[in-house]
Amino acid sequence: MVNRKKIVIIEDEPDILEVLSYNLKREGYVVLTTLDGDAGLSLVQKEKPDLVLLDLMLPGRDGIEICSSIKNDNDLINTLVIMVTAKGEESDVVLGLGVGADDYVSKPFSPRELVARVKAVLRRGKLLELKPEKEKIEYGDLLIDTQKHKVLVKRTEIKLTATEFRILHFLASHSGRVFSREQLLNKALGDATIVVDRNIDVHIRGIRKKLAIQPPLIETIRGVGYRFKE
Ligand code: CA
Repeated sequence: MVNRKKIVIIEDEPDILEVLSYNLKREGYVVLTTLDGDAGLSLVQKEKPDLVLLDLMLPGRDGIEICSSIKNDNDLINTLVIMVTAKGEESDVVLGLGVGADDYVSKPFSPRELVARVKAVLRRGKLLELKPEKEKIEYGDLLIDTQKHKVLVKRTEIKLTATEFRILHFLASHSGRVFSREQLLNKALGDATIVVDRNIDVHIRGIRKKLAIQPPLIETIRGVGYRFKE
């Protein structure tokens, strides 16, 4: 294989580290590991991996600090970060996404799930790198026509407000990715010239109600934010 992707795993639980490492190596990735936060950051800076699997609670620097350091380092511009969180750490997920993590997985997870997530993130690339906008997005009965600024459900036009349209279009353009409310404000509405209600929840409710698609295409990720179905 010519282009084997390099992954650094920073995880202080040896058992988990071993399982992750084993499963990723089996997929053909080059895997480097460390149990310590400080050593982890040095390893990342030295190796410039394609992806870092980053536990949150670590001896030395914690996951949030490391993620923030990676994302503020111009030499690591191509390094993706997946945060690994324990159950009930949703607020940390928000923090992690806030400092630029590209995705997260919650413990417990199966190795298979983890490998799938790693592949997906490597394929998609950066969370906050906005893809060139597609002209049309189709998902089941939903059609978003960007050029005509129209949304159709079962070929019937749905009237959304400008803000609702931006949020729906943004989420649908990045389907499968979770965004915090703060990110939606900054990324989806950041350059809006209109003054909008900054309560994202209100807009999401509006979109769901108008689209009337069940179950909703925009999913609530409790304690974290929203995501458009993958
Ligand atoms: Ca830990």
